[in-house]
Amino acid sequence: MPWCEECEAVVEDEQLTEEGECPDCGTVLVEEVRKPVPWYFKFMIFASVVYLGYRAFQGVTWVVHHI
Ligand SMILES: [Zn+2]
Repeated sequence: MPWCEECEAVVEDEQLTEEGECPDCGTVLVEEVRKPVPWYFKFMIFASVVYLGYRAFQGVTWVVHHI
């Protein structure tokens, strides 16, 4: 359980706000732990965007050549 310096009191975990702040004074007691997006996830999205763009380009050129 985090200790609030301002209120000089222990704050229950369930009393913390969603941002990890003391409900009484608003001091941030728990830094929000945000998991960074893994690089391979970003790379996967980038790769699929490139791939789909390439396939779309292929599809367009195929249609253009078959009209
Ligand atoms: Zn407080």
